[in-house]
Amino acid sequence: MARYTGPACRLCRRDGLKLFLKGTRCDTSKCAFERRDTPPGQQQTRRGKVTDYGVHLREKQKVKHYYGVLEKQFRRYFAKAERAKGNTGDVLMSLLERRLDNVVHRLGFGTSRAQARQMINHGHITVNGRRVTIASYEVRAGDVVRVMNKARSLDYIRGAQSESDRSVPDYLAVTESVIPEGIIGRLPGPEDVSVPVQTQLIVELCSR
Ligand code: SF4
Repeated sequence: MARYTGPACRLCRRDGLKLFLKGTRCDTSKCAFERRDTPPGQQQTRRGKVTDYGVHLREKQKVKHYYGVLEKQFRRYFAKAERAKGNTGDVLMSLLERRLDNVVHRLGFGTSRAQARQMINHGHITVNGRRVTIASYEVRAGDVVRVMNKARSLDYIRGAQSESDRSVPDYLAVTESVIPEGIIGRLPGPEDVSVPVQTQLIVELCSR
């Protein structure tokens, strides 16, 4: 699946908030958003007046950038959320939160979603004992996410774990054992989403 390969910090400056796309660098004084929180571009020194459409669009872009999905894939998530029972915005965020690259990152096995995605693509992660190489794989309650029992995989994850100091959300549990392992205790709800977003605006925009 295609992914954004341009400058990550530009996205934070465009969206006007820290999206934590670059792992440990985001927590240091090197964070571009900390140094300059104006929109990207040479002439941009302040944020101009935003239209109603612009406000709605920005909320959608925030979520796409945060989870690392492009428009086509996002539309698929939205269509699935619309078909499901319950609040569309909440279901949408739950579906995105259940992506395997997000879960691997939130378990602390990867310092960023991009790194987690690479770990998955390179075959370092298993779900319920089977190797999964698809970053968008949707985890379910009770699934066990584990690191491959190989020296290379373990070295890779241990390095990321030592750098990552983010707390694990309530819906996940990390088992402290020789091989790092995480369990999906329950499906994530709106309270588990760590990006501040007004999902109602996204629903209004995508339902037009
Ligand atoms: Fe965003 Fe700062 Fe991380 Fe760059 S370093 S991705 S600006 S949070």
